[in-house]
Amino acid sequence: MTADTLTTALVLGGLFLILFTCERWMPLRQARLPLARRLWINLSIAALAIGTAAAFVQPAGAIALQFISERRFGIIPWMNLSAAVQSVFGFLLLDLTFYYWHLANHKSPFLWRFHNVHHIDRDLDVSTAFRFHFGEVALSAGFRALQIAVIGVSPLTFALYELVFQANTLFHHSNVRLPVAAERFLNRILVTPRMHGVHHSEIQSENNSNFSVVFPWWDRLHRTLRLNVAQSQIVIGIAGYAAVADEGLTHALMMPFERQHNYWRRADGTICTERIQTDAKAPMRYMCE
Ligand SMILES: [Zn+2]
Repeated sequence: MTADTLTTALVLGGLFLILFTCERWMPLRQARLPLARRLWINLSIAALAIGTAAAFVQPAGAIALQFISERRFGIIPWMNLSAAVQSVFGFLLLDLTFYYWHLANHKSPFLWRFHNVHHIDRDLDVSTAFRFHFGEVALSAGFRALQIAVIGVSPLTFALYELVFQANTLFHHSNVRLPVAAERFLNRILVTPRMHGVHHSEIQSENNSNFSVVFPWWDRLHRTLRLNVAQSQIVIGIAGYAAVADEGLTHALMMPFERQHNYWRRADGTICTERIQTDAKAPMRYMCE
């Protein structure tokens, strides 16, 4: 382990513990499943994801970074910018392209089979943050190499982005209740827990919103931003994978390779497509058929 990797692990490990502690104190959403069992499942899936990232994604990124530095390859080196502007531009382009990768994981039926493993968690907290199927992580190695090569980002900007990306992934998955005013302010520049909570809703139109990772601006730009949903009204998870039988670790690891359920059909047979407001004073209702 290099000194850089050790520093990153310590920063992210520390942030995980801080958020985990805050979740006990001031939870944003009511938990539905026993914490110990979810921790076991999520941390096991995360351990496989981290191992896969170390084996495939990191080497793919390192090869791409070396390739572009030897050849001055990519969008940024081709533009004659000062070093500082290059860094800012590279940082923004990395975040924008992760928005597209996340979008692709929802729109492509093949990629969704893997990304769905992250979404079927019926609670959302900091332990969900690294709950990614190892297949999704392995597939992202190709994207990572392409992303770095096309942008032509410097190793330092990339390392900085990587740290911010992971830290904000922990933060926006966390179940920490921030004061609404504070979160609204923060949400101008960062994806926050309430914003990402909408993305984990079992309503398809809400699941297909809020794809940004660090900066929320990409959702604004692409008109995929959805903020007008109270967290107390959100059912977290994927409707077609909400049975007790869908909770286990082996099932989570095997499900991309198995016959897929209807993702949006609930156990009672209904599909809720949207949320509607029938009365200005009443909370919004699901529109189900
Ligand atoms: Zn997603």
